[in-house]
Amino acid sequence: MIILIRKRIFLLSALFCCFVVGMAAVLWCGHTQAAPVFSVRDGVPVTVVVDAGHGGEDGGAVSPDGVEESHLNLAIAVQVNDLLRFAGQKTLLTRSEDITIADPDLTTIRQRKSSDLKNRVALVNSTENAVLLSIHQNSLPSSTVTHGAQVFWNRQEGAEVLAEIIQDSLNSCINVGNEKLPKQIPSTIYLMKSITAPGVIVECGFLSNPAETARLQQPSYQLKLAAAIAAGYLRCAAGEEIT
Ligand SMILES: [Zn+2]
Repeated sequence: MIILIRKRIFLLSALFCCFVVGMAAVLWCGHTQAAPVFSVRDGVPVTVVVDAGHGGEDGGAVSPDGVEESHLNLAIAVQVNDLLRFAGQKTLLTRSEDITIADPDLTTIRQRKSSDLKNRVALVNSTENAVLLSIHQNSLPSSTVTHGAQVFWNRQEGAEVLAEIIQDSLNSCINVGNEKLPKQIPSTIYLMKSITAPGVIVECGFLSNPAETARLQQPSYQLKLAAAIAAGYLRCAAGEEIT
């Protein structure tokens, strides 16, 4: 019971700290930075679509000891969504449980995977003034020491600056001593080339690295990742630019 209460107090404290940091960034940037990239358009506020990659029978990348990225993606995405809502941001989660969002009448895995991606694209493209934050995990079996979080942006306006700021946020608390640069997403990635909104993929860590896989399963590390991603979005929404 005491452990549960302490855990709850820790999580609430972490949420509160993230909120304070995010709002401080918003207020500070509001005085000094360029016009926000993401703002109310034709009276419609921004909706951040928070995408937990994969799900259901599609586990995505899998570590050598069987940890599927879909579960980690969901745990982190739910917290990104909660933190952004806590800061007053309108959001939408592509999934809030371990499911595929494919049309239910399809039978083959190939059909269901294709339908799942098409439905994610449709959800983003039917949401007015949307920004996509897609949460995934990486894997590079040829280099089991490679680790860290990296952000990839699509070709829509605003995505590159969003990726730069989220990467900066991740570099300052997740990638210390292992800073990474954000990159443009290859044009072959269906979800990101098909959406008409700015979007970034956050590859939170490498399931091919055993130590990082262990960290990625810890609730406190998942919260740290979520807080860095949410704070990065809030900084960008406030108009900050990386120079
Ligand atoms: Zn993935």
